[in-house]
Amino acid sequence: MAFDAEPPGRWTDPPVRYPDPAVKVLDPRFSRYRIVSAAVERLATGFRWVEGPVWFGDQHALVWSDVPGNTMWRWDELSGQVTPFRSPSHFSNGNTRDRQGRLVTCEHLERRVTRTEYDGSVSVLADRFQDRRLNSPNDVITATDGAIWFSDPTYGIVYDYEGNRAEPELPTAVYRLAPDTGTLTAVVTGLVQPNGLCFSPDEQLLYVVDSGTSPGLIHVFDVDGPTVRNGRVFADMGPGSSDGVRCDVDGNLWASAAGGGDGYDGVHVFAPDGTLIGQVLLPEQCANMTFGGRKGNRLFMAASQSIYSLYVNTSGCV
Ligand code: MG
Repeated sequence: MAFDAEPPGRWTDPPVRYPDPAVKVLDPRFSRYRIVSAAVERLATGFRWVEGPVWFGDQHALVWSDVPGNTMWRWDELSGQVTPFRSPSHFSNGNTRDRQGRLVTCEHLERRVTRTEYDGSVSVLADRFQDRRLNSPNDVITATDGAIWFSDPTYGIVYDYEGNRAEPELPTAVYRLAPDTGTLTAVVTGLVQPNGLCFSPDEQLLYVVDSGTSPGLIHVFDVDGPTVRNGRVFADMGPGSSDGVRCDVDGNLWASAAGGGDGYDGVHVFAPDGTLIGQVLLPEQCANMTFGGRKGNRLFMAASQSIYSLYVNTSGCV
């Protein structure tokens, strides 16, 4: 068919020649995950600092937090429209869904982890440990047994930009909230700023980012029922740091990367043995990602002021 006029926007954006040079194969093991006719797409921009993307397949939507913007946003897969999901969001950060599909959210301002019920009301799952206030829950995951694991660094209380400045009442930690009793247990202590976390596909390993060291480190622990043991360094993120992590179904670790500039910022992909095998380069610092889409093969990346996506030839383990 012929156009009567040039389509809007034609030739105004620089084209991407496939395969997208932003997707770097550093080791042959990564080749199978790159789709040579898929490019990084910027879905939305104009935020302050985005985090906590979570996929709602039943709504064809991605929800995420703009932490200093004090708003959660929703991108509609069908229309491409971006609309507010919750405002104010209490400076929300990490999000996930529990085993019943309910939204679970970390809030910096209220220093708590909440669950959004089916009727829209919000329940507090955790805000104190041993009668002292949590620092500022940052990132959260749900185990198959229904337990909720979350990190509690101090980023939401060190300045007013992402919450309310306050003195910490507790050391930083990763906590496990038991599904039956609601008991909170500190399962990882001793990291400077425990941040993003995820399980391996078999839930035998727990990965935890420490973004408080320079360079940032990703630790891995053996999961032993309701606790962990044998912590060791999995990856060194020098010269930058990571924030959020996700495993794919093959056990590769997809880690956000920030602070290293061009050729570094974006997502770094590690094989289960810790080898860096691939990168997704973004023009902004990346904080978190999640796999979504109907087949779980679309990587959504929350990066500074923008949300990006990339189709990949694998899917996330949930
Ligand atoms: Mg984080």
